[in-house]
Amino acid sequence: MPPEPKSVDPKSVKVHKTEGTGMDIEWKDGHRSAYTFPYLRDACPCALCNEERAKEHRRPGDPLKAIAGALPMFKALARPTDVEAVGKYAIRFVWNDGHQHGIFSWDYLREWCPCAECKGNRDAVADGEEVNEGKGKPN
Ligand SMILES: [Zn+2]
Ligand SMILES: [Zn+2]
Repeated sequence: MPPEPKSVDPKSVKVHKTEGTGMDIEWKDGHRSAYTFPYLRDACPCALCNEERAKEHRRPGDPLKAIAGALPMFKALARPTDVEAVGKYAIRFVWNDGHQHGIFSWDYLREWCPCAECKGNRDAVADGEEVNEGKGKPN
């Protein structure tokens, strides 16, 4: 059974646009999420990016797969040139590659929180397994 969709609002949002590092969100339930800009770019929720990800079986936030035998493409690390709030429910980035159609709702951002705990929960749901706390922790 999929988990209930969480509707959690952020308590504070910090976008480190000048530093080009990423975005930190502290949620009202006390959870903290730290997103790098490349992660967010790869998690862009717009229809175009969704379609591209579906073709390559990537999940939001997964980096582009290297094509076997092809030379790696060196592209500038994704970072936003502009950031704006969309109402009370979302945030939008204008990326340095000109892309700007993705609107990241708080629900979406929370759903795709990159922390180990949330990632573990997502993987468990994907594998249809229960999460085993304290099992197989790195280090
Ligand atoms: Zn997009
Ligand atoms: Zn998390």
